[in-house]
Amino acid sequence: MYSTSNHKWSMTSQDMPLKKKLFLYSALVILVFLWFLGVRNRGDAERYEAMRQTLDTYEMQLKESKEQMAYTLRLFKKDCDMWYADLPVIYAITPTYARPVQKAELTRLAQTFMLVPNIHWIVVEDAEEKSRLVSNLLASCHLNYTHLSAMTPPDWKRKAKEPNWKKPRGVIQRNMALQWLRDNTVIGIDKGVIYFADDDNTYSIQIFNEMRHTKRVSVWPVGLVGGLMVERPIIDSTGHIIGWNSAWHPERPFPIDMAGFAINLQLFLKNPEAKFSYEAKGGYQESILLKSLITRDQVEPVADNCTKVYVWHTRTEAVDLVHEKKLRLKGKQSDDGIEV
Ligand code: UDP
Ligand code: MN
Repeated sequence: MYSTSNHKWSMTSQDMPLKKKLFLYSALVILVFLWFLGVRNRGDAERYEAMRQTLDTYEMQLKESKEQMAYTLRLFKKDCDMWYADLPVIYAITPTYARPVQKAELTRLAQTFMLVPNIHWIVVEDAEEKSRLVSNLLASCHLNYTHLSAMTPPDWKRKAKEPNWKKPRGVIQRNMALQWLRDNTVIGIDKGVIYFADDDNTYSIQIFNEMRHTKRVSVWPVGLVGGLMVERPIIDSTGHIIGWNSAWHPERPFPIDMAGFAINLQLFLKNPEAKFSYEAKGGYQESILLKSLITRDQVEPVADNCTKVYVWHTRTEAVDLVHEKKLRLKGKQSDDGIEV
């Protein structure tokens, strides 16, 4: 009995009736077809998902560029709103050199200048060529600017441990900016003032109001310079300058810092020999320039008769890059692909 029933179940395909065989084959074909459709649809779903993501990305980019455009438009509008035909132009001259803090310094300075009407920023890089970092920064801040470069002669470059009074900084760069002014502004026509704005100082926007209407040379106090809290002109009861309180080389003809005066553009243009010089003694750059323009009794005190500090000779500490140096020894860097 048992073996008989076993025999029944061990029937081979040859024994299967043709109808049943056909049925099974059709079922198999249908299953394969359905499976194929499933796979194909899954492919479609993936493609659909990818397309949707691409569209989302485009939508986001569009939104971003719309916002960017609105921002740019606002800046342009601000540029127009902040330019007045009758107001003298402030030509701010900034020498600058490549170092880890350069972008931070220039960003702070640019964003101060963005609050000042009628300003023309002359940036002179201490380099053979203009850098991409400074070019990008200038292009993005919507200021009137001129971008130049002039490298300090190697003999005049300060060595790492050299005291900073030994070699003047920014001489060739400031002179290049002054030459640009001689070549690009017109004697008897253009109204403006020249100001030497180093990239690391701190400026209250008030100082630009004070200097704008300088007739010859205006002066004011500078904070945190020359070993003092404030270095400033001393004014008598009639509002005339009778001297300076400077402690560092007070015998200088003009014992003041580069950040403490502005020059009328026309006065400068009328004195073709006025410029800085490597020949000057240490600390005498300001004096050599001012001596070729005016006498001490002709300077104009501003900032409430020199009782207010609107500019500080701040200096930025060199950055500690101990771990960056280690990374670079391994051929890596933390700022790969990022401008810092
Ligand atoms: N500067 C430069 N090249 C240098 C050193 C300084 O162009 O090799 C620039 C610097 O960026 C700044 C100005 O010259 O705008 C004065 O330099 P720094 O602030 O170092 O001088 P200090 O504060 O000692 O007067
Ligand atoms: Mn400085």
